[in-house]
Amino acid sequence: PLDAAWAVRWMRGTAQVVSENRALLIDLDRAIGDADHGENLDRGFGAVLLKLDGDAPETPAAVLKLVAMTLMSTVGGAAGPLYGTAFLRAATSLGDTGVVDPSGVAGMIAAARDGIVARGKAEVGDKTMVDAWTPASEAAETAAQAGATAPEVLAAAANAAHAGAVATEPLIARKGRASYLGERSAGHQDPGAVSTALILQAAAEAAG
Ligand code: ADP
Ligand code: MG
Ligand code: MG
Repeated sequence: PLDAAWAVRWMRGTAQVVSENRALLIDLDRAIGDADHGENLDRGFGAVLLKLDGDAPETPAAVLKLVAMTLMSTVGGAAGPLYGTAFLRAATSLGDTGVVDPSGVAGMIAAARDGIVARGKAEVGDKTMVDAWTPASEAAETAAQAGATAPEVLAAAANAAHAGAVATEPLIARKGRASYLGERSAGHQDPGAVSTALILQAAAEAAG
């Protein structure tokens, strides 16, 4: 079941995969930004792990809210407020539900995506994390409506996020630091889109 223990496993898995991909995310951000995305997220999710060791939130939303607060205070840069908003909106969408059902998963991902768009004002095709969250949200909604289980909805979202991240490679950035490079931003995947795919992959793996 997608309960509070699942949300904790998701966050532990995210911290691990972000740590394992720290150098990749730094390299991607070195190409089109300032080479700190891997460091920023590794610090943030490392702090999340410490918080979870000291506190065992009782609902999925409480876990995600703790994550939001921790990321906002530790990550900095563009990604900190964006991911902080995403996890906060996701938590709000879940309310006090104890077990997230398939439509709840789709609603949570849509809320996260909408929060990022509200905060950063990027559109699809601007070469940002929105290019991973948007197809993830659409795939989750489609899967939920087709009768998929909650873990299947997460897997569909993760696959779509990964495809979305890969598809940012040829794009020219129109938001964030990478946009300063203009056409020279083409030819590299967006670091935030790649980290989004890692986070959603961790969500799916924690459910399976
Ligand atoms: P900074 O650019 O401040 O160093 P990070 O390197 O941690 O922050 O994060 C960069 C990522 O943030 C980008 O790869 C992109 O996905 C995302 N990003 C930047 N600006 C925006 C925005 N306006 N909307 C959505 N995502 C954005
Ligand atoms: Mg950066
Ligand atoms: Mg920076």
